[in-house]
Amino acid sequence: MVITTRKVRLPAQRSGFTLSGQKTRHLQMQILRHILILCLVCGLLPWTGVTYYRAYSEMQYLDITISIDGLEQTTHTLERQVSAVLASLHVVLLPEDTCDPLPDTVFDEDLTIFITRATPVWLTVDGQCREYRTRVATVAEFISEQGVAVASDDRLLPAGDTLLTPGLEISITRIQRFHLSMQYPLPYGIIREESSALGQGYEQRVRGGQEGLAEDIMEVILEDGVEVERFLLSSAVVQPVVHELIHVGTAGLAEYDEDSFPFQRMYIMETTGYCPCYYCCGKYPDHPAYGITCSGLLAGRGVVGADLNVFPLGTKLYIEGYGYCVVGDTGSGVMGRNRIDLGFATHQEAYDWALRRETAIYVLYDD
Ligand SMILES: [Zn+2]
Repeated sequence: MVITTRKVRLPAQRSGFTLSGQKTRHLQMQILRHILILCLVCGLLPWTGVTYYRAYSEMQYLDITISIDGLEQTTHTLERQVSAVLASLHVVLLPEDTCDPLPDTVFDEDLTIFITRATPVWLTVDGQCREYRTRVATVAEFISEQGVAVASDDRLLPAGDTLLTPGLEISITRIQRFHLSMQYPLPYGIIREESSALGQGYEQRVRGGQEGLAEDIMEVILEDGVEVERFLLSSAVVQPVVHELIHVGTAGLAEYDEDSFPFQRMYIMETTGYCPCYYCCGKYPDHPAYGITCSGLLAGRGVVGADLNVFPLGTKLYIEGYGYCVVGDTGSGVMGRNRIDLGFATHQEAYDWALRRETAIYVLYDD
């Protein structure tokens, strides 16, 4: 019998020996893999948790209360900025409205937003009318805020202490006052005055008329440049009126020296006497013109010298204490002097007449 011995590697042995090494390596790899996975998981978990937490927390709804002029409403929101919350609720901030906190504020917790609305008011001044929004309380504060000058005469409506309400209409009316001088003529009238110095039916214009001048001082009131009132402050006569004066004769017959006669007019004048002599007339008897008056009449009784502007040459007169006469001469002694120079035949008679202050002179009718 031949026993052949063959060294046969038993699969078991072979594999046992071989498998044992591979398994170990495999196990080691697996362990390493698990460790890596574990490490990976252990490392990622916190990061992932934080990330997810953050995302979760950001997804949280917050309670936001909005108070508008004291009226509150609350909303649950995911928004994190004040302006976004207001927009989501269609709350519009207008100029001069206040918002606390400010619209661009970012928050991450419950919050109350306070909004104070400005008051819309209308202001009319200096021809312009427009709407304003303000947070002040009274009319006076609003006017001051806008920097509008209000003079003491100006009219502010409503009164300055009025509380502002939405839509209130405020007006400032500019008041101007000034004085106005108005001058106007005063017409003259005609005064007819009876005069016993004039004969009946005879009139004489003693004085011409002259217009006067009066001045009224008015106060004029303008509202926004438009006159609304004017009234009289004072009235005065600047230049007095002079009325025309006419004397109307009432005298009938003058009675003098036991004589009576009709006359046109009577004057009271002073009288003097003269004769043709050298002392009275400056000419000697041998002078060619000696004793001749400028009218050609011979100087002597019955011929008188007078102011020819008052009594033209030839005017017939009756002179108290002297008698009938005619105006035949003139001279520097009588012109413009309210005087009549009475002619006498002799120097003695003229001298005796001397000067009489108040003598009645009657102008007779020509007939
Ligand atoms: Zn004489």
